[in-house]
Amino acid sequence: MNIHEYQSKAILRSYGVNVPTGKPAFSVEEAVENARELGTDTVVVKAQIHAGGRGKAGGVKVVHSLEAVEKAAEELLGKVLITHQTGPAGKRVNRLLIEAGAAIKKEYYLSFVIDRQTARIVMMGSEEGGMEIEKVAAEMPDKILKEYIDPAVGLLPFQANRMAYGMHFPHDSVRKATKLMMNLYRAFVGKDCSLAEINPLVVTEDAEVMALDAKLNFDDSALFRHPDLEELRDETEEDPKERRAAKAGLNYVNLGGDVACMVNGAGLAMATVDIIKYYGGEPANFLDVGGDSTPEKIAEAFRIMLDGGQAKGIFVNIFGGINKCDLVAEGIVDAAKMISEDGKSLPVPVVVRLEGTNVERGREILQDTPIANVIMAPTMEGGAETIVRLVKEADGRA
Ligand code: ADP
Ligand code: MG
Repeated sequence: MNIHEYQSKAILRSYGVNVPTGKPAFSVEEAVENARELGTDTVVVKAQIHAGGRGKAGGVKVVHSLEAVEKAAEELLGKVLITHQTGPAGKRVNRLLIEAGAAIKKEYYLSFVIDRQTARIVMMGSEEGGMEIEKVAAEMPDKILKEYIDPAVGLLPFQANRMAYGMHFPHDSVRKATKLMMNLYRAFVGKDCSLAEINPLVVTEDAEVMALDAKLNFDDSALFRHPDLEELRDETEEDPKERRAAKAGLNYVNLGGDVACMVNGAGLAMATVDIIKYYGGEPANFLDVGGDSTPEKIAEAFRIMLDGGQAKGIFVNIFGGINKCDLVAEGIVDAAKMISEDGKSLPVPVVVRLEGTNVERGREILQDTPIANVIMAPTMEGGAETIVRLVKEADGRA
């Protein structure tokens, strides 16, 4: 789960990490009021969206008067911000962070992530802060320093020290930098984060060390331990289909294309996305219906895939192991009943490949209740090829 920058900063502050004073604002009036309360010469008005790259896209405005705060807030609130992380559709700005401007001397990069290879938390730091870290990693990989953390003892002070010296903090800031690293690590572990990224971490003109940006991601599997975090969820930032699917217990990721697929098992679901691509189609989603699908769950999956007219065709690719092919077939029949008036048609072509437990019974069910637009495919390859062709034909692209 992701949260906004101002929420991340509040959490970091509670762990003793130095962040600028600031408050969120949901309206222009509130923005001006917050700035008045701050009383600083320089105020920074920052768009709050679940994506980075705001600075370059005009989403961070450094201003010097209340009038300028008002103007900046008017400009940003309600605007759709397109950054290199939002995708072409962009994200609508509904909240701002109004915070004290810092006198930046130098920008650094600092983050904690979980390293899969070593199965440890790794701290990464670089003196090339402020810019995209992916670029630093590609062009100057030796400018990124790493400290792998032993889970039994946690981040040790000597590691933080080695990092601070390696990042070339000025001597009078090293201690503050190491303290910030230790506190950020405590926040990472305490809140079950999967990512904590500070870009930029800065040294100010008066030798303060401060997190000017903050991005925290949380491990969804650990959220049950943190009801306070669940409250920070901003549903307007999440894909409505993904939310709805999560509520139905479906593992769904929107991929933006028009060939939907419904599969059981994450591996087969990935292979299905690949094979749709291989035959020239654009997958609409990744969807693993899991091993315990009921007809209701399958029908809900159909409704989600068809919602909003995104899918121009659906490929059902089921290998019945634990899942039974007859239940999947019943789900398809139920979906047709719920979606169409006559109960016998689906709005887009559906190619079905069934294999495994109760496959004969599954095929019978689909034959006994013929649904317009449902085509049985004997193989995965054949099925993928057919659905891609049908979607292209429907689109006049063939
Ligand atoms: P993003 O990563 O989305 O571009 P940041 O929060 O990193 O957004 O802000 C972009 C840049 O704006 C920073 O690199 C920094 O130079 C400047 N900035 C952000 N917050 C402040 C602040 N409180 N005071 C001064 N400059 C800031
Ligand atoms: Mg940033």
